[in-house]
Amino acid sequence: MENVRVRFAPSPTGPLHIGGARSALFNWLFARHYGGKMVVRVEDTDLERSTGEYEELILDSLRWLGLNWDEGIAVGGEHGPYRQQERLEIYRPYVDKLLETGQAYHCYCSGEELEAEREALLARNELPRYLGKCRNLTLKDREELCASGKQPVVRFRVPEGQTLVVDDLVRGRVEFESDGIGDFIIIKSDGIPTYNFAVVLDDALMDITHILRGEEHLSNTPRQILIYEALNFTLPKFAHISLILGEDRSKMSKRHGATSVVQYRQDGYLPEALVNFLALLGWSPEGEEEIFPVHELVSRFSLKRVSKSPAVFNFEKLKWMNAHYIREASIERVTELCLPHIQEAGLVETDITPERLAWLEQVVATVQEKLEYCAQSPELVRVFFGETVELDDEEDIRLVMAMETTPAVLNTFRDKALTFAQWDGDTVRQTLKEVGKELGVKGKPLFMAVRVAVSGQSHGPDLNSLLALLGPALVAKRLEHTLHSM
Ligand code: GLU
Ligand code: ZN
Repeated sequence: MENVRVRFAPSPTGPLHIGGARSALFNWLFARHYGGKMVVRVEDTDLERSTGEYEELILDSLRWLGLNWDEGIAVGGEHGPYRQQERLEIYRPYVDKLLETGQAYHCYCSGEELEAEREALLARNELPRYLGKCRNLTLKDREELCASGKQPVVRFRVPEGQTLVVDDLVRGRVEFESDGIGDFIIIKSDGIPTYNFAVVLDDALMDITHILRGEEHLSNTPRQILIYEALNFTLPKFAHISLILGEDRSKMSKRHGATSVVQYRQDGYLPEALVNFLALLGWSPEGEEEIFPVHELVSRFSLKRVSKSPAVFNFEKLKWMNAHYIREASIERVTELCLPHIQEAGLVETDITPERLAWLEQVVATVQEKLEYCAQSPELVRVFFGETVELDDEEDIRLVMAMETTPAVLNTFRDKALTFAQWDGDTVRQTLKEVGKELGVKGKPLFMAVRVAVSGQSHGPDLNSLLALLGPALVAKRLEHTLHSM
């Protein structure tokens, strides 16, 4: 496919959501697969809800995911500006043209009038729509209405009795009856264009060839097609991607868990995991594999394998995938991502020294295998912090503490620990062995007793690593404390 140009056009009315991120990703994969261009522009015609902060946050999330763009906001290009607010002058001649040809007209109906019309239609079980009261106002009518101070909107005159066809690359042929649409607003009374109008002008003037977006915009598409036709623009290809549902099959919302990309970022998900996961929400490559580095996604992506049925967001799968990427990541990177969480939990200083950081890396390495996302790290590494421990209230723990040999094991090990200023994994292994030999104890009564007394838990990181990283002094202190509370 040649000269592919796609776009992602977020409204800066909130952070980047999972659904938006998935749309951005599909556009990006499509552009990269065909060697095309990705454009990012901002749809900020909702003056009340759009903010610069949200815009920055969205762009930041895109960058974090690695979804770079070739043209648009922040990078520039020959079709700018890339914010709709800054394009109002560009839209004007097209509105004038539609007004001149009669394909659009001024409507002076008040909010109350429209509401009354809507209610009447609903009461008759008809589709609520504008019935065209101002369609045929004369110049004189309009002058009078203007003189009375009414600010008109501009409506698009929808042709009657037409079947409008969306030839969707994902959903196939979808038909809409023009009679159900009603003349819709293209310019609001404050002079700001509506989404349906501005999006068409932007897409057409920016030479967008393929529009990949969420299914929620399918019903807008016939209106947009009418505008393309009225202005003699070439129609792009449309592909509407299915909704993302929660596991209970209702529309994905906060109640199912985090819905924004920043939240996943803050929770310590890796961007490559999220990208891999989102790519499989509605698209599936051939075969059973699920782990794909991004270059694989790019080479395999095609709209042919984008599904019509809704995609279900499976958190367990996301965590599983993220755990995979955490295991593959370098310990330096994983530690860096865990650090803010561990600091926030008050376990290490905010101005951590290089030595302490090197130690923390070894600590994090002991839990790297278990980590699903970095916000879990404080709980997993907690056992490495503090002078004393509380024993978990568990049957296994009670049993091991009640063993006849346990006090001697703990005492002897404590005495030996006190003879070291420092030790490493090998010394620890050696020392435990000696304790076992001297007392004639091995296996669980030895290792479990020490583990429980030092960590308070019957499970956890590798015992040698735990003891080595705690250091002999702290191990001795914890043993002392546990012995006292027995
Ligand atoms: N601003 C729209 C949205 O965020 C984009 C719609 C479109 O892609 O046409 O939903
Ligand atoms: Zn009207």
